[in-house]
Amino acid sequence: MLNPFENALRQLERATAVKQFDPSFIKQLTFPHREIRGHIPLKKDDGSLQMIEFYRVQHNNWRGPYKGGIRFHKDTDIEEVKALAFWMTLKCAVANIPMGGGKGGATINSKELSVSELERLSRAWMRVLVDVVGPQKDVPAPDVNTTPQIMAWMSDEYGKITGDTSGAVITGKPLEVGGSEGRGTATAQGGFYVFEALRSNFGLPDLCKVVIQGFGNAGEHAAEIWSDVGHKIVAVSDSRAAVRNPNGLDVAALIEHKKASGSVHGFAGGETFDGSELLFEPCDLLIPAALENQIREDNVARIEARVILELANGPTTPEADDFLFSKGIPVIPDILANSGGVTVSTYEWEQNIKREHWSEQEVFIRLKKNIQEQALQIFDQARNLKTDLRRSAFILALERIAKSQE
Ligand code: GLU
Repeated sequence: MLNPFENALRQLERATAVKQFDPSFIKQLTFPHREIRGHIPLKKDDGSLQMIEFYRVQHNNWRGPYKGGIRFHKDTDIEEVKALAFWMTLKCAVANIPMGGGKGGATINSKELSVSELERLSRAWMRVLVDVVGPQKDVPAPDVNTTPQIMAWMSDEYGKITGDTSGAVITGKPLEVGGSEGRGTATAQGGFYVFEALRSNFGLPDLCKVVIQGFGNAGEHAAEIWSDVGHKIVAVSDSRAAVRNPNGLDVAALIEHKKASGSVHGFAGGETFDGSELLFEPCDLLIPAALENQIREDNVARIEARVILELANGPTTPEADDFLFSKGIPVIPDILANSGGVTVSTYEWEQNIKREHWSEQEVFIRLKKNIQEQALQIFDQARNLKTDLRRSAFILALERIAKSQE
């Protein structure tokens, strides 16, 4: 079953089979509070008009304002955005931040848009949603293919319409317009802190062979962070191709190559191969950092990783989870592993509200302490309940969400 929202609900069902919760509480979580969709008229540079479908799903706000990114992708649809919004509710609870869950998107290949078209689309997205977002209502952020610049346009548009120029309506902004130190690398950095906290439990070597699927914000920064401390990045992929080097890729040179050519394809410091084969490279740590439904029943048996750390949202299906658990391959789930992004987003929101600016060191000290605490709690609980880390993370989140309803 590859509908991401159905998969998300099955994850919920599987977790609540391990630990029981009030059924009426759980039932409410299976429905988003609100789904908004419509069409934005985008005037193209050549004068033609393109109607672009957009979405905002506000899943749950019991613990705080709806929070979650905006995805611009050609395959984005309402079911995907619903799943991502649901995962945000759980993720914010895992991260123990005062936020609920939401997600937005637009069905568009934004790489085909000019800069001015992208700006018009971003401003229009904010204009059509201006009444339902806000620092105490719903706080969007970046996700796949959305950048700090896009957040800046949206924040500016919101300020122009409402007069609230604090920037707290949206996070992931550039530093000059109220962004937080560390937000750009926070998703990967948080994943690294989780990995560090749990590594000894998995019996991984001091220096690991790492494979990364996806070379966007999360994947690229992960490559830098892991390789900076001596781990070997033996293969990475992007939406076009994969590249491998068993002796370790030169990450800085690879980033330069991608900047110049638009892809990792053809990088001279490695061998280019078919991106769909990337997941099966032998390694200590596999980091899916792209899209949903990558590790599935039909391909999971070919995985040769010792541990999987999900920087993407929803990369592993429930069937694949079962197979990996039975083989003793731990999967550090998305709602823990990639929660550094939304955590630092929340620090950004707090800084904007209080008109403060925290140093990068302060941001990372807070992030590390917080995310490692959650990682250890989830790990210990999984061991006690004899279950996997995903079910354990769900249970921790559900307990916290339930508390907000007492
Ligand atoms: N899009 C990111 C996520 O999936 C970040 C969300 C946020 O910062 O609000 O967690």
